[in-house]
Amino acid sequence: MLRTGLKDLAMETRQCDVAIIGAGTAAMNARRAVEKAGGAPLMIESGAYGTMCARVGCMPSKLLIAAADAAHGVATADQFGIDVASGWRIDGARVMQRVRSERDRFVGGVLRQVEAMPEAHLLHGHARFTGPTTLTVDDHTRIEAHAVVIATGSMPVRPPPFDGPSERIMVNDDLFELTDLPTSLAVIGTGVVGLELGQALHRLGVRTTFFARSDRLGPATDPAVRAVIRDTLDDELDLRANASVLTCMPDETGLRLRFAADGAEHDEYFERVLVATGRHPNVADLHLEATGLELDDRGLPAWDARTTRCGDSAIFMAGDVNGHAPLLHEASDEGRIAGANALAYPDVVAHARRVPLAIAFTDPQIALIGRHYNQLDLDEVEIGELSFERQGRAAVMARAKGLLRIYGDRSKCTVVGAEIFGPRAEHLAHLLAWVIQAELTVPEVLKLPVYHPVLEEGLRSALRDLAGKLRVGGQCREEDFASSPGT
Ligand SMILES: Cc1cc2nc3c(=O)[nH]c(=O)nc-3n(C[C@H](O)[C@H](O)[C@H](O)COP(=O)(O)OP(=O)(O)OC[C@H]3O[C@@H](n4cnc5c(N)ncnc54)[C@H](O)[C@@H]3O)c2cc1C
Repeated sequence: MLRTGLKDLAMETRQCDVAIIGAGTAAMNARRAVEKAGGAPLMIESGAYGTMCARVGCMPSKLLIAAADAAHGVATADQFGIDVASGWRIDGARVMQRVRSERDRFVGGVLRQVEAMPEAHLLHGHARFTGPTTLTVDDHTRIEAHAVVIATGSMPVRPPPFDGPSERIMVNDDLFELTDLPTSLAVIGTGVVGLELGQALHRLGVRTTFFARSDRLGPATDPAVRAVIRDTLDDELDLRANASVLTCMPDETGLRLRFAADGAEHDEYFERVLVATGRHPNVADLHLEATGLELDDRGLPAWDARTTRCGDSAIFMAGDVNGHAPLLHEASDEGRIAGANALAYPDVVAHARRVPLAIAFTDPQIALIGRHYNQLDLDEVEIGELSFERQGRAAVMARAKGLLRIYGDRSKCTVVGAEIFGPRAEHLAHLLAWVIQAELTVPEVLKLPVYHPVLEEGLRSALRDLAGKLRVGGQCREEDFASSPGT
């Protein structure tokens, strides 16, 4: 009791307009929004500056994938008549060195932004709530704020039997610190992170085996798209679906995995394990109970995506921590909304959110745009599709694999969503997201120009297929179709 009292006396008290917990992408954008509106933010970070995306997320993973793409190009060059049999090799140490040095340049850019901040806007330490808008940071500072933005991100889940201390059991954070590529790897989980990193390492010559409890591969929800993903990736990767890893026993040179699959137990040995079984919001150590907010079984309060506000409080949540859409552009948008609303509190404004857009950088890529198949009322939509097996440009590039499925609203004739598994799907995904957000009808989209020969012709084919079905099954105006040269 006495000790607590003395500690409290030694604490500095700081006041601010908006206390922002975290210094990741969401927090940096919240801080900018507060400053732009003339307020005084205080950004509190307990870990390293530089953001998760730049340090251990989007950027190093895409750097590793870029190396894998280069290796795959050489490995498959023979089909174009380019003979590489006389010799080439992957230098794992140089691959990882480039990943890290380029990654450090991205991190450096963020660090320069942090360094340019006024000292009064920054504090290092772990923040915990002591009341609805009061916090302590470690045992050195007490904070009184007008409003608070929680932007604490998420952390990888490490379920048993992968919760042991072995450095051979890695999560994404550890992978990019390797100074050389491992000879073999077990990837646990076939979500976006597991598939992206695992396929890249496989293409970089690492003997890679994927273990998943279900037969799900990546984020697609459309059964037709999922079937093509499974067929395609099964051809390339060593996938153990419906497999449950029972034990993971490390020794000096690797780890022995015992797993149950096909009604039997099996043993396999790997140099390392990459655990990619999902992430959970960083709320456990925030003392959210002190805010008076009602918390659900994940420890999260009720949250409004348009205001980023938690219930009726002066607390706002932005980025991965709210569990809404754990993606970089969503974290940026939510940070801006949260910062502006926190400063303006109680005059909170609801903002329109962008059309959902998510891309997995597998090869072929997987993209989900607008409404997903499992969010559709199938009585209200028609579905157009295009197989990349028959698409000209995809064949030219020897990339003729995949399926595009596009969903059109029967009564409005607008595009409402799509799921894609196909070459360079990231670009078609953006076109579709813009079309959906602009609420264009299918005939309107078909009036737009398309060059030849390009992958976008595949998108136009899918739209034509959709237009044909809407003409028969929808309530669209016939004259709209008649005036479109594309239909
Ligand atoms: C391998 C991988 C690849 C990815 N690739 C992509 C991609 O290609 N495209 C894409 O859009 N998204 C991608 N993402 C997701 C993207 O990285 C995240 O959505 C985004 O970085 C989340 O930003 P954030 O601000 O919410 O959290 P973060 O950047 O994680 O920031 C949270 C910060 O809060 C700090 N913190 C936590 N608790 C406290 C506390 N109590 N006190 C003080 N500080 C605290 C943490 O130390 C951390 O710095 C990827 C993620 C991973 C893991």
